[in-house]
Amino acid sequence: MEKQHKFSIWYVLIAIWIVLIIQNLIVQMFAVERIPYSEFVKALEAGSVVEVAVTQDRIQGKIRVTEDGKEVEKAFTTVRVDPDLSQLLEKYNVTFKGVIESHFLRNLVSWLFPVLFLVAVWYFMMRRFAAQQGSFLTLGKKRAKVYMEDEVGVTFDDAAGVDEAKEELVEVIDFLKTPEKFTKLGGKLPKGILLVGPPGTGKTLLARAVAGESNVPFFSMSGSEFVELFVGMGAARVRDLFAQAKGKAPCIIFIDELDALGKARGIGITGGHDEREQTLNQLLVEMDGFDPTIGVILMAATNRPEILDPALLRPGRFDRHILVDRPDRKGRAEILKVHMKGITVDKDVDTDTIAGMTPGFVGADLANLANEATLLAVRHDKEKVGTAEFQEAVERIIAGLEKKNRLINEKERNIVAYHEVGHALVALSLPDGDVVRKVSIIPRGVAALGYTMQVPTEDRFLMTKSELLNKIAVALGGRAAEEIQFQDVSTGAHNDLSRATDIARSMVKEYGMSSELGHVYVEKERQRRFPDMGLPLAKDYSEQTAQVIDREVKTILDSQYEVAMGILTGHRKVLDEGAALVLKKETIEGDRLKKLLDADKAA
Ligand code: ADP
Ligand code: MG
Ligand code: ZN
Repeated sequence: MEKQHKFSIWYVLIAIWIVLIIQNLIVQMFAVERIPYSEFVKALEAGSVVEVAVTQDRIQGKIRVTEDGKEVEKAFTTVRVDPDLSQLLEKYNVTFKGVIESHFLRNLVSWLFPVLFLVAVWYFMMRRFAAQQGSFLTLGKKRAKVYMEDEVGVTFDDAAGVDEAKEELVEVIDFLKTPEKFTKLGGKLPKGILLVGPPGTGKTLLARAVAGESNVPFFSMSGSEFVELFVGMGAARVRDLFAQAKGKAPCIIFIDELDALGKARGIGITGGHDEREQTLNQLLVEMDGFDPTIGVILMAATNRPEILDPALLRPGRFDRHILVDRPDRKGRAEILKVHMKGITVDKDVDTDTIAGMTPGFVGADLANLANEATLLAVRHDKEKVGTAEFQEAVERIIAGLEKKNRLINEKERNIVAYHEVGHALVALSLPDGDVVRKVSIIPRGVAALGYTMQVPTEDRFLMTKSELLNKIAVALGGRAAEEIQFQDVSTGAHNDLSRATDIARSMVKEYGMSSELGHVYVEKERQRRFPDMGLPLAKDYSEQTAQVIDREVKTILDSQYEVAMGILTGHRKVLDEGAALVLKKETIEGDRLKKLLDADKAA
């Protein structure tokens, strides 16, 4: 960009210079000499005036003069002094006109020329610029450049460790392969599929793999590309992208880095319609206007779903979200295998061991790792890439990632492991709880450091008091486990606390489940006032009641924390075993933990 900038400034300077020269020439061509009136009269008397034109205050015409011994006609102009000029002119027998020829032609030529020249220079520059940048001057002439690949050549085998995301995408592939099968039954596919996940987990790769697996053309553009364009071009490109894709159905339209384009509107300082907003609006219009039964699937990827404009996520737009999460140890081993295919690896290299050394690595990091190890082997003059090179490469990459603050350290992993196993053990110990599906210390989404996945056994419409209390105990189980193991608590429970408090508060205020307050309902649902003045809503209850509410909420939370503590201290051994297991495997099945718990209970 920097270089291009200089380049264009030089062109502008040269252009201005040339314009000045041209203008000078033109003015000289039409040069008119100002002469004093007395000289004019002298010329008249000498009979050298050829013709004149006269107005109220000026005289203009041609006189014959001798220059370098040759007689030439020269234009002149002078101020009119004598009111009886006509008599004078008649006396010397000079043809005269009443008006001065206008300068229109002269002005026109002297201005039109430079302008035309400037336009030509500008056009030339744009052409060069466009050749480098993809075309943007082609608005309305040629189609905007769109990135289409007929054959992608990437398959699902290239993306490993993301089995859940793949499962969800299989349906899309089926549809693209045989759209008739779906449309015959009146089936509808989601219009927009949004791949959500941290950077480098393989979102772009998966989108391409879907195209590769279903053998359809792949149209892709990155959100940031739309934004860099000039006003109006982004929207034009979106229109064009969809128009072209429709002609190639079945196919995939993929918008990478959707967040660059789809940031919530009205956040910018200008607040008005900027380019991005126009482009986003056009995208929304196109999405609403197209019928997925023609076989065009729209996919997008983002690592920041939280900043997307809500309009993009509405039903009928990007309403299907697929999480592409960080790989666990097993997943990392599989990804490593993919990236080791192309390199000569020593027999003793064990992908599982390397996976164990690389917690927190995503697919892109592992691809980088394989590459780095190969480079090291070359540097060491080795025939094959060995374990030593992989180890060295791991160390290097970890150092880099730690700087970027993208890895959690050993101590934190330990805390997260106890925390999550704490949740899970309390959930498993209490009756009628939701089934614990998975316990994991892999960061999920944006905020959570680990997660315990619980699924309800059935759809529920009512909750009993004891179930609500159990839920609170499970939410507090994470913190209780931290306290038992480390005699200290961390900020990791922040979300759990807010959830537990919410439940307790609702129990007291809405469900009449506290003994002191009894069966009252103190939380009135109100209409939001309009206009909303931002004033706090008036309470419907007295200050005294408010105190009771606070006290009751605290009592519930405290007693449930004790419940959690009791369970975890009672199964201290399982807590340790479970945490060790999670630390090693990163993700374990709930059943595995249940077996440990049952064994402990039996003992
Ligand atoms: P994202 O779009 O999620 O930021 P990419 O798809 O661009 O990540 O991944 C970058 C590179 O990292 C890919 O080209 C691939 O080499 C590697 N990679 C990422 N995820 C995986 C995966 N799950 N399996 C294999 N390779 C992966
Ligand atoms: Mg990407
Ligand atoms: Zn928690």
